[in-house]
Amino acid sequence: MENITSGVSEIIVIRLTTYLRCLYIAKRKRKNIIKSVEIAKLCGIKSSVVRKDFTQFGAFGIKGKGYEIENLIKKVREILGLNTMKNVALIGVGNLGTALLKYQGFFDANFKFVGAFDLNYQKIGKRVNGIKIYDIKNLKKFIDKNSVEIIILSVPSAAVRSIFKNIDLKKVKGILNFTSAILPCEGKKIYIRNIDLSRELELISFCMKKCLKKEA
Ligand code: ATP
Repeated sequence: MENITSGVSEIIVIRLTTYLRCLYIAKRKRKNIIKSVEIAKLCGIKSSVVRKDFTQFGAFGIKGKGYEIENLIKKVREILGLNTMKNVALIGVGNLGTALLKYQGFFDANFKFVGAFDLNYQKIGKRVNGIKIYDIKNLKKFIDKNSVEIIILSVPSAAVRSIFKNIDLKKVKGILNFTSAILPCEGKKIYIRNIDLSRELELISFCMKKCLKKEA
Protein backbone atom coordinates (compact mmCIF):
# COMPACT_ATOMS: atom_id res chain seq x y z
CA MET A 1 0.00 0.00 0.00
CA GLU A 2 1.43 3.36 -0.93
CA ASN A 3 0.76 6.49 1.02
CA ILE A 4 -0.34 9.06 -1.58
CA THR A 5 0.13 11.88 0.89
CA SER A 6 3.89 11.18 0.57
CA GLY A 7 5.83 14.31 1.29
CA VAL A 8 2.96 15.82 3.27
CA SER A 9 1.98 14.47 6.64
CA GLU A 10 -1.45 12.87 6.85
CA ILE A 11 -2.28 15.14 9.78
CA ILE A 12 -1.85 18.21 7.56
CA VAL A 13 -4.06 16.67 4.87
CA ILE A 14 -6.74 15.99 7.50
CA ARG A 15 -6.42 19.61 8.69
CA LEU A 16 -6.89 20.81 5.08
CA THR A 17 -10.17 18.90 4.84
CA THR A 18 -11.25 20.58 8.10
CA TYR A 19 -10.31 24.04 6.73
CA LEU A 20 -12.35 23.33 3.62
CA ARG A 21 -15.48 22.62 5.68
CA CYS A 22 -14.96 25.86 7.65
CA LEU A 23 -14.47 27.83 4.44
CA TYR A 24 -17.74 26.44 3.04
CA ILE A 25 -19.50 27.58 6.23
CA ALA A 26 -17.98 31.07 5.91
CA LYS A 27 -18.96 31.21 2.21
CA ARG A 28 -22.55 30.26 3.05
CA LYS A 29 -22.58 33.23 5.43
CA ARG A 30 -21.77 35.36 2.35
CA LYS A 31 -18.35 36.35 3.63
CA ASN A 32 -15.62 37.21 1.08
CA ILE A 33 -12.59 37.48 3.35
CA ILE A 34 -11.61 35.42 6.37
CA LYS A 35 -8.76 35.89 8.84
CA SER A 36 -6.59 33.00 9.97
CA VAL A 37 -7.77 33.58 13.57
CA GLU A 38 -11.38 33.09 12.42
CA ILE A 39 -10.49 29.86 10.59
CA ALA A 40 -8.58 28.76 13.68
CA LYS A 41 -11.56 29.43 15.94
CA LEU A 42 -13.98 27.61 13.63
CA CYS A 43 -11.67 24.60 13.30
CA GLY A 44 -10.31 24.49 16.85
CA ILE A 45 -6.72 24.78 15.55
CA LYS A 46 -4.05 27.37 16.51
CA SER A 47 -3.96 30.34 14.08
CA SER A 48 -0.17 30.02 13.70
CA VAL A 49 -0.71 26.42 12.49
CA VAL A 50 -3.39 27.56 10.03
CA ARG A 51 -1.07 30.22 8.57
CA LYS A 52 1.87 27.78 8.38
CA ASP A 53 -0.26 25.15 6.60
CA PHE A 54 -1.51 27.61 3.98
CA THR A 55 1.94 29.15 3.40
CA GLN A 56 3.38 25.67 2.88
CA PHE A 57 1.00 25.19 -0.05
CA GLY A 58 1.50 28.67 -1.47
CA ALA A 59 -1.84 30.08 -0.31
CA PHE A 60 -1.11 33.61 0.86
CA GLY A 61 -3.49 36.04 2.49
CA ILE A 62 -3.77 39.79 1.94
CA LYS A 63 -1.66 41.54 4.56
CA GLY A 64 -3.79 42.90 7.40
CA LYS A 65 -7.01 41.60 5.81
CA GLY A 66 -7.02 37.82 5.63
CA TYR A 67 -7.69 35.26 2.89
CA GLU A 68 -10.12 35.60 -0.01
CA ILE A 69 -12.50 32.73 0.72
CA GLU A 70 -13.30 31.81 -2.90
CA ASN A 71 -9.60 31.68 -3.84
CA LEU A 72 -8.70 29.71 -0.74
CA ILE A 73 -11.46 27.15 -1.39
CA LYS A 74 -10.15 26.77 -4.94
CA LYS A 75 -6.60 26.34 -3.70
CA VAL A 76 -7.46 23.79 -0.99
CA ARG A 77 -9.64 21.78 -3.39
CA GLU A 78 -6.75 21.78 -5.87
CA ILE A 79 -4.31 20.57 -3.19
CA LEU A 80 -6.73 17.81 -2.18
CA GLY A 81 -7.27 16.81 -5.81
CA LEU A 82 -10.97 17.61 -5.63
CA ASN A 83 -11.18 19.67 -8.81
CA THR A 84 -11.87 16.68 -11.02
CA MET A 85 -14.81 14.29 -10.66
CA LYS A 86 -13.77 10.79 -9.58
CA ASN A 87 -15.75 7.68 -10.44
CA VAL A 88 -16.65 5.51 -7.48
CA ALA A 89 -18.13 2.00 -7.29
CA LEU A 90 -19.74 0.64 -4.14
CA ILE A 91 -19.67 -3.05 -3.28
CA GLY A 92 -22.30 -4.44 -0.90
CA VAL A 93 -25.70 -2.77 -1.02
CA GLY A 94 -26.83 -3.68 2.51
CA ASN A 95 -28.04 -1.14 5.07
CA LEU A 96 -24.73 0.72 5.23
CA GLY A 97 -24.12 0.56 1.46
CA THR A 98 -27.62 1.88 0.76
CA ALA A 99 -27.08 4.82 3.13
CA LEU A 100 -23.77 5.65 1.44
CA LEU A 101 -25.36 5.57 -2.03
CA LYS A 102 -27.96 8.05 -0.79
CA TYR A 103 -25.45 10.47 0.71
CA GLN A 104 -25.41 13.68 -1.38
CA GLY A 105 -22.18 14.95 0.22
CA PHE A 106 -20.02 12.62 -1.91
CA PHE A 107 -21.30 14.09 -5.17
CA ASP A 108 -20.88 17.65 -3.85
CA ALA A 109 -17.23 16.82 -3.15
CA ASN A 110 -16.77 15.54 -6.74
CA PHE A 111 -17.12 11.81 -6.08
CA LYS A 112 -19.60 10.18 -8.43
CA PHE A 113 -21.13 6.76 -7.89
CA VAL A 114 -21.13 5.11 -11.31
CA GLY A 115 -22.35 1.73 -10.11
CA ALA A 116 -23.04 -0.52 -7.15
CA PHE A 117 -22.39 -4.27 -6.87
CA ASP A 118 -23.88 -7.13 -4.94
CA LEU A 119 -24.30 -10.90 -5.22
CA ASN A 120 -27.91 -10.95 -4.04
CA TYR A 121 -30.13 -11.57 -7.09
CA GLN A 122 -33.01 -9.76 -5.40
CA LYS A 123 -30.91 -6.58 -5.41
CA ILE A 124 -29.16 -6.91 -8.80
CA GLY A 125 -30.85 -4.77 -11.50
CA LYS A 126 -32.53 -2.46 -8.96
CA ARG A 127 -31.48 1.14 -8.34
CA VAL A 128 -30.70 3.08 -5.17
CA ASN A 129 -30.80 6.86 -5.53
CA GLY A 130 -30.62 6.31 -9.30
CA ILE A 131 -27.48 4.16 -9.07
CA LYS A 132 -27.81 0.74 -10.66
CA ILE A 133 -26.87 -2.42 -8.76
CA TYR A 134 -24.84 -4.85 -10.90
CA ASP A 135 -23.85 -8.46 -10.42
CA ILE A 136 -20.51 -8.65 -8.59
CA LYS A 137 -19.35 -11.01 -11.36
CA ASN A 138 -19.22 -8.01 -13.72
CA LEU A 139 -17.04 -5.86 -11.47
CA LYS A 140 -13.74 -6.31 -13.31
CA LYS A 141 -15.19 -5.37 -16.72
CA PHE A 142 -17.13 -2.47 -15.20
CA ILE A 143 -14.04 -0.97 -13.52
CA ASP A 144 -12.27 -0.99 -16.88
CA LYS A 145 -15.12 0.42 -18.91
CA ASN A 146 -16.14 3.14 -16.47
CA SER A 147 -12.72 4.31 -15.26
CA VAL A 148 -13.52 3.50 -11.65
CA GLU A 149 -10.78 4.97 -9.47
CA ILE A 150 -12.26 4.43 -6.02
CA ILE A 151 -14.03 1.45 -4.47
CA ILE A 152 -16.16 1.58 -1.34
CA LEU A 153 -16.40 -1.76 0.44
CA SER A 154 -19.53 -2.29 2.57
CA VAL A 155 -19.72 -6.09 2.50
CA PRO A 156 -19.26 -8.57 5.35
CA SER A 157 -15.53 -9.04 6.12
CA ALA A 158 -15.68 -12.70 5.05
CA ALA A 159 -16.55 -11.60 1.49
CA VAL A 160 -13.42 -9.49 0.98
CA ARG A 161 -11.03 -12.19 -0.33
CA SER A 162 -13.39 -13.39 -3.04
CA ILE A 163 -14.17 -9.81 -4.12
CA PHE A 164 -10.49 -8.97 -4.52
CA LYS A 165 -10.22 -11.58 -7.26
CA ASN A 166 -12.44 -9.23 -9.28
CA ILE A 167 -10.74 -5.93 -8.53
CA ASP A 168 -8.10 -4.73 -10.96
CA LEU A 169 -5.62 -3.16 -8.56
CA LYS A 170 -3.79 -1.49 -11.44
CA LYS A 171 -6.88 0.57 -12.26
CA VAL A 172 -8.28 1.27 -8.79
CA LYS A 173 -6.31 3.90 -6.87
CA GLY A 174 -8.21 4.11 -3.60
CA ILE A 175 -10.41 1.98 -1.36
CA LEU A 176 -12.67 3.15 1.43
CA ASN A 177 -12.96 0.02 3.53
CA PHE A 178 -15.90 -0.27 5.91
CA THR A 179 -15.15 -3.91 6.71
CA SER A 180 -12.89 -5.02 9.54
CA ALA A 181 -10.82 -7.16 7.12
CA ILE A 182 -7.21 -6.34 6.34
CA LEU A 183 -7.18 -5.86 2.59
CA PRO A 184 -4.81 -7.94 0.48
CA CYS A 185 -3.08 -4.97 -1.18
CA GLU A 186 0.46 -5.28 0.16
CA GLY A 187 2.99 -3.76 -2.25
CA LYS A 188 0.28 -2.27 -4.49
CA LYS A 189 0.05 1.39 -5.46
CA ILE A 190 -3.27 1.92 -3.79
CA TYR A 191 -4.41 4.13 -0.93
CA ILE A 192 -6.70 2.59 1.68
CA ARG A 193 -8.75 4.17 4.44
CA ASN A 194 -10.12 1.65 6.93
CA ILE A 195 -13.27 2.74 8.70
CA ASP A 196 -14.27 0.16 11.26
CA LEU A 197 -17.31 1.70 12.94
CA SER A 198 -17.19 -0.72 15.89
CA ARG A 199 -13.56 0.20 16.50
CA GLU A 200 -14.49 3.91 16.51
CA LEU A 201 -17.02 3.19 19.27
CA GLU A 202 -14.42 1.17 21.17
CA LEU A 203 -12.12 4.23 21.03
CA ILE A 204 -14.91 6.43 22.38
CA SER A 205 -15.51 3.89 25.15
CA PHE A 206 -11.80 3.97 26.07
CA CYS A 207 -11.68 7.80 26.13
CA MET A 208 -14.87 7.94 28.21
CA LYS A 209 -13.30 5.57 30.75
CA LYS A 210 -10.18 7.75 30.91
CA CYS A 211 -12.22 10.95 31.38
CA LEU A 212 -14.36 9.41 34.12
CA LYS A 213 -11.19 8.29 35.97
CA LYS A 214 -9.79 11.86 35.79
CA GLU A 215 -13.03 13.34 37.13
CA ALA A 216 -13.21 10.87 40.08
P1 ATP B 1 -25.21 -3.84 6.31
O1 ATP B 1 -24.17 -4.70 6.96
O2 ATP B 1 -24.69 -2.98 5.23
O3 ATP B 1 -26.04 -3.12 7.30
P2 ATP B 1 -26.85 -6.16 5.77
O4 ATP B 1 -26.90 -6.59 7.18
O5 ATP B 1 -28.12 -6.04 5.04
O6 ATP B 1 -26.22 -4.77 5.54
P3 ATP B 1 -24.46 -7.69 5.14
O7 ATP B 1 -24.57 -9.11 5.47
O8 ATP B 1 -23.52 -6.90 5.97
O9 ATP B 1 -25.92 -7.10 4.99
O10 ATP B 1 -24.00 -7.52 3.63
C1 ATP B 1 -23.96 -6.28 3.00
C2 ATP B 1 -24.24 -6.49 1.55
O11 ATP B 1 -23.12 -7.14 0.95
C3 ATP B 1 -25.45 -7.35 1.28
O12 ATP B 1 -26.30 -6.69 0.34
C4 ATP B 1 -24.86 -8.63 0.69
O13 ATP B 1 -25.72 -9.23 -0.27
C5 ATP B 1 -23.60 -8.10 0.03
N1 ATP B 1 -22.56 -9.12 -0.17
C6 ATP B 1 -22.21 -10.13 0.64
N2 ATP B 1 -21.20 -10.85 0.10
C7 ATP B 1 -20.91 -10.27 -1.08
C8 ATP B 1 -19.97 -10.53 -2.13
N3 ATP B 1 -19.10 -11.54 -2.07
N4 ATP B 1 -19.98 -9.73 -3.20
C9 ATP B 1 -20.83 -8.69 -3.29
N5 ATP B 1 -21.74 -8.38 -2.35
C10 ATP B 1 -21.78 -9.15 -1.26
